[in-house]
Amino acid sequence: MVLGNSMILKKSDHMGGRWVQCKIQFNPARMVSTSAKLTKNRLKIAPCFLCEANRPALQKGILFMEKYIILCNPFPILGNHLTIPPLHSHVPQLIRNKVGDMLSLAEQLPDYVLFYNGPKCGASAPDHFHLQAGLKSPQLLQGDNVLRSCLMIESGNKSEVEELFEDVYQYLHHRQPKEDEPMMNIIAYIEQNRYKLNLFPRKAHRPRQYYENGSKQLLISPGGALDMAGMIICVREEDFKIGTHDIEDIYSQVSLPVI
Ligand SMILES: [Zn+2]
Repeated sequence: MVLGNSMILKKSDHMGGRWVQCKIQFNPARMVSTSAKLTKNRLKIAPCFLCEANRPALQKGILFMEKYIILCNPFPILGNHLTIPPLHSHVPQLIRNKVGDMLSLAEQLPDYVLFYNGPKCGASAPDHFHLQAGLKSPQLLQGDNVLRSCLMIESGNKSEVEELFEDVYQYLHHRQPKEDEPMMNIIAYIEQNRYKLNLFPRKAHRPRQYYENGSKQLLISPGGALDMAGMIICVREEDFKIGTHDIEDIYSQVSLPVI
């Protein structure tokens, strides 16, 4: 069961009132992903569900670029929700030299957004690289707004997007030198023959409300790129009460301000 609801937030800034739209999705099937413990020992608990040997025999996929396999996501948030791991390699979730592949996938899937969740920013398999994709919706294409940071890269030239991404990566790595990879979520898509990449820098995975008890608790991660863009996932019915103040507060806790 998936129920949707839209909420309009109004924030004032120096330029006057600005409207920001967030969509709240009640999606109890995402409980496992939202409440997943961040542990490097994940594989001691269960075999990697993205490795070919552990995938269900019935789960077929489509080969892409001779190195990725496009699979259906068994716990969808978006229409036609796909998970895209490398076909054979069990390698860590690190995006640095794979942005070009992400854009190549976006070329082939013009009705979709491609998205990436960093290993500490919502990836449910941080030890096995994977991209995801799903059908576009207006909330997912939102760039920068007053709620959270978003670094937007756009060009008609794929190589230029990759070069600009590397510049941004270096800057963010400088801000978070102890991380294997700067904390981030990414949404990439094609619009009017131009490559668009929205990068959401993060300073935390989960907000204070996640760790509260009783009625104060909100089990909102936010899990990844979709939440950061504006589609917030609630896995418990009681969290569906989330209001404007909570949303503003949660974004302010997890988004990394940039100049
Ligand atoms: Zn694996």
